[in-house]
Amino acid sequence: MKTILVTGGSGFIGSNLCKHLINDGMRVICVDNNYTGRMCNIADLMENKNFRFILHDITSPIDPEEKIDQIYNLACPASPPAYQGPHAIETTKTCIIGGLNMLELARQHQATILQTSTSEVYGEPTVHPQPESYFGYVNPTGIRSCYDEGKRCAESLFFSYHRIYDLPIKIVRIFNTYGPNMRHDDGRVISNFICQSLQGQSLTVFGSGQQTRSLCFVDDTVDCLIKMMNSPKEFTGPVNIGKPEEHSILEIAEIISDITATKISMVHKEKPEDDPSRRKPDISLAQSALAWYPKTTLKEGLQKTVEYFKKDLKQNCKL
Ligand code: NAD
Ligand code: UDP
Repeated sequence: MKTILVTGGSGFIGSNLCKHLINDGMRVICVDNNYTGRMCNIADLMENKNFRFILHDITSPIDPEEKIDQIYNLACPASPPAYQGPHAIETTKTCIIGGLNMLELARQHQATILQTSTSEVYGEPTVHPQPESYFGYVNPTGIRSCYDEGKRCAESLFFSYHRIYDLPIKIVRIFNTYGPNMRHDDGRVISNFICQSLQGQSLTVFGSGQQTRSLCFVDDTVDCLIKMMNSPKEFTGPVNIGKPEEHSILEIAEIISDITATKISMVHKEKPEDDPSRRKPDISLAQSALAWYPKTTLKEGLQKTVEYFKKDLKQNCKL
């Protein structure tokens, strides 16, 4: 049985990943400081003898006192309101100091380590759709830079450990992912629109709503993370994970209103600084190297997410 450490394991993608790994018969050590993660996301795993939770901030080193075979490094807030503003310094520290601590742990255990990087490394892209070979167009001092540059520097650190110590690394660049275990108060577009719509509130559209995103359901993202981790050692990535279908924010609002069967109203708010105007992944590398393609249609994924949020809003779980 492999022992797998997942940082950020009580968060949205992390908790879905932990569940898949446990179902696959792995031992899972989940490390999280619960900044945006919630114990309710992993409540049904806590009874499992192969699951261990450690409340810990990865900006300090950790010794789990058992042999680790693989590390998935997901710790980092991903929602713009959670990573920006007063949290900006912690965000960059988590990416860089946290990343270094996890790389050192991987080196001690000769474990393969996977970094969850982001489409944000492409910034406001001048190339569309975005392939991994595109170096990006990022504002290095703007309000998103704590996250974007933190993630870019983490990629650089991972490659330095690979070149200098021959550490087995994997880098994935995740595009917008949605699904069960998102927080209702997370602040991202899908959670906001679904919860606003279920509560009879106006949908908050930032700017004109013409900006686009490509949305991937979490089960597909997790499937790709696991495929990437178990790919041949020489395949380091970076590799894009996302669904190459582009929708404007206004289209997303309409689709959600159809699924929730509500007549929606919209209120326009100011577009946040440096909010990228277009995003669509080129996933030909994931298709050819990992034989992966996201299977879930947007409608299916959103239907599952709406059912999840109906329960999550009732439970109002914050911790
Ligand atoms: P999330 O906020 O739900 O999860 C992040 C988890 O990391 C939370 O449980 C949080 O408590 C934990 N965390 C934050 N700082 C920590 C620290 N210093 N020490 C320990 N734990 C810490 O976000 P998510 O959407 O699940 O994202 C997971 C990862 O995937 C992140 O690294 C994010 O950058 C990346 N990613 C996500 C998306 C997406 O659309 N969801 C897109 C691109 C990249
Ligand atoms: N957005 C919006 N209303 C919201 C939340 C987000 O119009 O209530 C927009 C946001 O301006 C961005 C897109 O939706 O253009 C995706 O935002 P999100 O925070 O989900 O993720 P991002 O891709 O910006 O990291």
